[in-house]
Amino acid sequence: MERKIIRLPEALINKIAAGEVVENSASIVKELVENSLDAGARRIQIEIQGGGKTLIKVEDDGFGMGPEDAALCIERHATSKIKGEEDLESILTMGFRGEALAAIAAVSQFEIKTADGVKGTRVLGEGGLITTLEPCARNRGTTVEIRSLFFNVPARKKFQKSNGANTSQAIRVVETLSLAHPEIAFLMKVDGKKSLDVGAGETHKERIESLLGKHDHEVLFEKGEARIHGLLASVEKASGNRSGQHLFVNRRPIFSPFIARAVKMGFGTRLAEHAFPAFVLFLEIAPDLVDINVHPQKKEARFQDEGKIFRLFEEAVVSSFEKGKSFGESLTFTPPVLSPFSSFERSAPHFEEERSFHFEFQNERPLVVFGNYLAVMREESLLLVDLQAAHARALYDSFTEKRAEAQALIWPLEIELSFDLDGEKVADELKELGIESRFLGKKMLVVDALPPFLDAASFTQFFQSWKEGKKLSALTSRFCKSLKKSYSLDEAFFLL
Ligand code: ADP
Ligand code: MG
Repeated sequence: MERKIIRLPEALINKIAAGEVVENSASIVKELVENSLDAGARRIQIEIQGGGKTLIKVEDDGFGMGPEDAALCIERHATSKIKGEEDLESILTMGFRGEALAAIAAVSQFEIKTADGVKGTRVLGEGGLITTLEPCARNRGTTVEIRSLFFNVPARKKFQKSNGANTSQAIRVVETLSLAHPEIAFLMKVDGKKSLDVGAGETHKERIESLLGKHDHEVLFEKGEARIHGLLASVEKASGNRSGQHLFVNRRPIFSPFIARAVKMGFGTRLAEHAFPAFVLFLEIAPDLVDINVHPQKKEARFQDEGKIFRLFEEAVVSSFEKGKSFGESLTFTPPVLSPFSSFERSAPHFEEERSFHFEFQNERPLVVFGNYLAVMREESLLLVDLQAAHARALYDSFTEKRAEAQALIWPLEIELSFDLDGEKVADELKELGIESRFLGKKMLVVDALPPFLDAASFTQFFQSWKEGKKLSALTSRFCKSLKKSYSLDEAFFLL
C-alpha cells in the first residue's frame, strides 16, 4: 500500500482534539460558564436536561460578541484572550487556549445567540460546521445551547456515565465556580427544576455558607507575594473523602492532593488520622509563580516552589486556629545543609521490600521532589521516598487487588500485535490486570479502559514491558523505570 501523508480536515482535527477538553457534560458546563465569567457576566443561568445529553444551555449578560467574532469563536485556537507568547506568563482569564468552543461544537448540535450591544447574531451548526449565520435580536450577552452531545462520536457516547452521575458532576462544577465568584448571580436548572440559586453581590462567607453550610474558622494569611483566605469547617464536618474540599488558585478551581495534605497538617491533632477536613480556600499569587497550563482542562497547577506553597497553607491554617499567637521555627522550617547524599540515606526506607510499604504517611512535611525522589521531614529525620518504586508498587497493588475501577478511555487505544501473539489470549490476560481490551481482526488490539496509575500515553511502553515477561512485580518496576518520569509534588502525594 502506498503511504502518503495528508493534512486532516479541520473538522476531524477538532473532533480528535475534543477528547482532551470535552470529557463529559460537566466539562462542557465548566467551559461555557468560564467563558461567561471571562465575558464579565453579572448573572449566569445554566440549564441541563438528560444529564446534558439532551441539552446544555448557558446564558449570560456579559459583553457578548459581534457578528465576526460569533462566526470565528468555534474555530480552533481562536481566542480573544491572549495575543502573543508574553501573555502566557500572566493569564488572568479562565480561558486562553481557544479550544473549548471548537471542541464542543465538533461533537454536538449547537446554537449560539450573542449580542455585543450593537448587533445580535445567531450561529447554528453541527459537527463543527456552521449551517446558519444570521442577525437576531438579543440583549447584550451570550446564550450557548448544546444538543445531541456526542451524536457523531458513538464510542464516547457509549462510555458516558449515567445521567444522574453526569448531572451531579455538572452541579458540582457550577457550585465550585460560584464559590469563587460571590459577586455574580448563578441560577441552575436540572430537568426543569431549580437546583442552585444564589444572588449577586454576596461576600465570600455568605456564598460559602449559602452553598455548603456553616464554616467556622476564617483563614486570612499573607506572606510575601502570597495571600491565602477562605473558611474551614469545624472538625465534625470532616469526612472520609475530598468532597468537602475546595481549593482555588487565582480564582481557578484546582485539584491538589499536596495542598489538601498541607491543610490537614495545619489541623494537627484536631483531626483523626484518615479524616479529610472540609474547607474553601483561595490562594492569590503572582501569576508568574504558578503554571496553570499543564492540564488541558486546567485542573492542575504547578508551582515554582511547591515546598513553600505547602508550608504557606499549613501556616495559614495553623494561625487561623491560634489567632494572635506567632508561629516560629517549627513552621518556617529551612532544610539543613546536607552535603553528602549518603548522610541521609541511613534513614531512607527501602521500598523494594514488601514491609516498608506499610509505612504510613501522616505527619511528614514534604520538602521537595527531585527527579524520582520525594524528600520528607519526619520529626528529626529526613526521609527519601523512591517515587519510581512507589509508582511500581501502586500499580502492582491496583493489578492484584483490583479495588479501583478501570477508567474508560475517551479515545480507545489501538495496538498492533505482532504475529507471534494470540490476540484473544492477550485480551484475556490483560483483563486479569483490570485492563479492558478487545481483539479485532488483523491483529489489532483495542484498549477501552485502564486501571489508575496507568495512563493512555504510556500504555504502549507498558505493553512492551508486559510482553517481555510476566512476573508482575518485575514487570511493574521495569515499566516504571522505563518511563524515566520526573514526578510533581502532587503526583507524589497521589501515589502515597
Ligand atoms: P478561550 O476561552 O480559551 O478563549 P473558547 O473556545 O472557550 O476559548 O472561546 C473562544 C472565544 O469565543 C473567546 O476567546 C471569546 O472571545 C468568545 N466567547 C466564547 N464564549 C463567550 C461568551 N459567553 N461571551 C463572550 N464571548 C465569548
Ligand atoms: Mg473558554
